[in-house]
Amino acid sequence: MVNHDLKIFEELESNVRSYVRSFPTVFKKAKGYKMWDINGKEYLDFFAGAGALNYGHNDEKMKQKLVEYIMSDSITHSLDMATEAKGNFLKKFNEVILKPRNLNYKVMFPGPTGTNTVESALKLARKVTGRTNVISFTNGFHGMTIGALSVTGNAMKRKGAGIPLQHVVTMPYDNFVSESLDTVEYLERFLEDNGSGVEIPAAMILETVQGEGGVNAANFEWLQRIEAVCKRWGILLIVDDVQAGVGRTGTFFSFEKAGITPDIVCLSKSISGYGLPLALTLIKPELDIWSPGEHNGTFRGNNVAFVTATEALTYWEDDTFEKSIAKKSEMITEFLTNIVKKYPELKGEVKGRGFMQGVSTPIEGLASSIAAKAFEQGLIMETAGPEDEVFKLFPPLTISEEGLEKGFKIIEESVQSLVS
Ligand code: PMP
Repeated sequence: MVNHDLKIFEELESNVRSYVRSFPTVFKKAKGYKMWDINGKEYLDFFAGAGALNYGHNDEKMKQKLVEYIMSDSITHSLDMATEAKGNFLKKFNEVILKPRNLNYKVMFPGPTGTNTVESALKLARKVTGRTNVISFTNGFHGMTIGALSVTGNAMKRKGAGIPLQHVVTMPYDNFVSESLDTVEYLERFLEDNGSGVEIPAAMILETVQGEGGVNAANFEWLQRIEAVCKRWGILLIVDDVQAGVGRTGTFFSFEKAGITPDIVCLSKSISGYGLPLALTLIKPELDIWSPGEHNGTFRGNNVAFVTATEALTYWEDDTFEKSIAKKSEMITEFLTNIVKKYPELKGEVKGRGFMQGVSTPIEGLASSIAAKAFEQGLIMETAGPEDEVFKLFPPLTISEEGLEKGFKIIEESVQSLVS
């Protein structure tokens, strides 16, 4: 086994995006909320694959199922054939997730990643409505392919691709741009503007908590009003739950407490439970008008990922997991609220919901410096927001309370060393 140093990555890996600069070490092992590098140094993972590892690394039960599955020569790749693993997943997803929440969706496997589910949702909305425009939100993030990028409210990410926001209206999100602007009213006026020949959009796509955009949480009333506008104008509401879903905000779907029912839901990241690529697009049955072959792809519905995804759903069979997420979320809120109070130099604001919280600071570069300092002390944490102005706490939902406390200590020490 070769123990690589960082040189090989700096020389050979493309600049496109590499965490070598933010997290300058070579990782080797991981378990639960911990990771270890090749030198044996331990890190607390407060990043969790940007929401792809909500159940932590190498969950013991999922691992066992995976090993059993592989050792019995079960099917790994099957294109669109019906397989036992896919059937098991569909059945359990319906019984444990959809039915108890009174949700009636058909499940589509759009391709392996979050971007694929967004693409499929946008395509389907256009097909169903026969219209093209999509409303998306400032600082929203929906993926890196051309369609998903065209609804991503981040100029830097679109710039190199040479695509403007095509067929898209972007709007400020939940009054975050201006306290005095009622975005729902703004939207209504825009839609009513017949004189300018406004074409009614096919869909609206939003994250209930913007993950990459700076953990901006939409309030529930705003979401309800948005849903009502969509209904009134026949605009399909797409909730991109790629990052906020699978328990990240405290409930399986991020929109449950808001009491809205999107027409289409995008899921990926933690749905496989084990960090394996898997994506789902949930579609209201009456909208499922795909013609066979109209959206296909070689790697849709990964059988190995179905095995871990099915096991992961066990966490949701009763409310124990949800309760533990709620308790630990409160610990995170309390910790961040105290930090902001204790270190006024931060000029910090606590943002987000559940296990999707962070602190924004207007001081240039400070959030990144705090994350870098924390890394030196053995904690992995990312920044978010258009100016990287938010340090974002994203541990696995399965982290112990003790693990959280350990992380809090490192974060506080990092803040303290930089502001006082
Ligand atoms: N939507 C949201 C809300 C996301 O956070 C992401 C990934 N950060 C995506 C879509 C794209 O997912 P993927 O990177 O798996 O293509």
